[in-house]
Amino acid sequence: MNNAIKVRFAPSPTGALHIGSVRTILYNYLFAKKHGGQFILRIEDTDQKRFVPGAEEYILESLRWLGIVPDEGPEQGGPYAPYKQSERTDIYKQHIQRLLDAGHAYYAFDSQEDIEEMRIRLKEAKVTSPQYNSISREWMKNQFTLPPEQVKEWIDGGKPYVIRLNVPHKEHIRFHDVIRGWVKVDTSVLDDKVLMKSDGIPTYHFASVVDDYLMQITHVIRGEEWLPSMPIHVLLYRYFGWSEQMPKFVHLPLLLSPNGTGKLSKRHADEYGFPAFPIIWNRPELTVKKGFREQGYLPEALLNFLALLGWSPGNDQELFTQKELIKAFSLERLGKSGAKFDITKANWFNQQHIKKQSPTVWAEYFIAEAAKEGITCNQENVIPICDLVKDRVTFPQDFWLEGKFFFVMAPINYDSDTIKKRWNVQIKEVLTDFMHALSTLTEWDHKHVKSLLQASIIAHNTSIGHIMPILRMAVTGVTAGPELMDTLILLGKDKVCARIIAFLNGCKIKLFI
Ligand code: GLU
Repeated sequence: MNNAIKVRFAPSPTGALHIGSVRTILYNYLFAKKHGGQFILRIEDTDQKRFVPGAEEYILESLRWLGIVPDEGPEQGGPYAPYKQSERTDIYKQHIQRLLDAGHAYYAFDSQEDIEEMRIRLKEAKVTSPQYNSISREWMKNQFTLPPEQVKEWIDGGKPYVIRLNVPHKEHIRFHDVIRGWVKVDTSVLDDKVLMKSDGIPTYHFASVVDDYLMQITHVIRGEEWLPSMPIHVLLYRYFGWSEQMPKFVHLPLLLSPNGTGKLSKRHADEYGFPAFPIIWNRPELTVKKGFREQGYLPEALLNFLALLGWSPGNDQELFTQKELIKAFSLERLGKSGAKFDITKANWFNQQHIKKQSPTVWAEYFIAEAAKEGITCNQENVIPICDLVKDRVTFPQDFWLEGKFFFVMAPINYDSDTIKKRWNVQIKEVLTDFMHALSTLTEWDHKHVKSLLQASIIAHNTSIGHIMPILRMAVTGVTAGPELMDTLILLGKDKVCARIIAFLNGCKIKLFI
């Protein structure tokens, strides 16, 4: 047990949570809980241009549905509050001053046009990726090129400026990633990143490093799209004198599209017809807005599925409860390559988790679905039905779809193709005999019903394989369903007899027999 473990999920409220972010949340959470540590939720709302109203509430609701409760966060509070970056601007101002005083950050007064001109100039000089860096900054309007009095005058006079990171000219930055090992980057490819914008709001890099340090984050587990930002973060830790306290970094490989051709996107989700978000995102401008919750996925099934998309327990166990995942999880067993998102596997997990729950839970669900169609049924009757159909169910709503034939009167539509293909006089006679025999049966159980059916089959010299599909259709209206004998027993004598009669009459009309 290491009580000092502290991780964070730090979303920007710019839209719905991508399902890949849900996996990031999960890995952070499992790692923290495994080590008796803390999981922090920090809202990184510094980018006002990309801010989307409702996105923060959406994130909180998604976490609630997933059953992942942060130990510290905007709702829970905690020793490092506030947990929303927009409420921490004073902290960032103090910290940026430290970097300015030490010469690790500098003021820059260039307009958008100045920067554009610089890029054009560099492109003309055949520089492939023009940067604002230790070389190009020499021709720009900043603290390095302007006299100190001018800088002071412009600042005092309210001229807009940004504060940039002073990235050293040519230096190798080395950092360690738990998944990739040591990574080396040359600073000549880096930009003097803006740390604070002209409105006094910090950028992601600056605020995130300051907060990770102040909140005593020990492990940063995030998507690999943040790997290129690492050298900037490493420099910030160094400039603040925090290198020794730098967290361990874990950059997770991407979730890939079902055919493995790139990062899983909303477009893929749309194309393959599965949700891209944990819960519904009610914004009309998005084509894909379905949520796993609304589609009928259980949060525990979704988490179980996601846990194994990039992590392996080292054995062939697939089904896990949240407790078991916490126990088994380790960073060492995270994969190095992207994992394909396979929705059929997600469905399988849902089926398995549905089966694990007691039929009483599904009976409630069934009763509510039936009520929507004006059908009243009671728990006592519904529990055995849920138990019977549970192997055929992928989503909770399937319980009603699979079991509703118990409650509707005799089926009205039969699959006429099957009837035409299978029908013959023998079948009619077997069904008629069987129905008459059933109507006088006093012991309604598997043994007796089965022996009556066999007797009728033998008497008419036919086979069970011939009779079963038609018998199933007679009592359920369709050709596939749960175990037939169980179905007959649950339906009860009166319904079975009435349905066989209705079926025979229906066939008489349809087939003129
Ligand atoms: N705010 C960043 C995001 O939107 C957080 C990245 C990180 O975890 O450092 O994903």
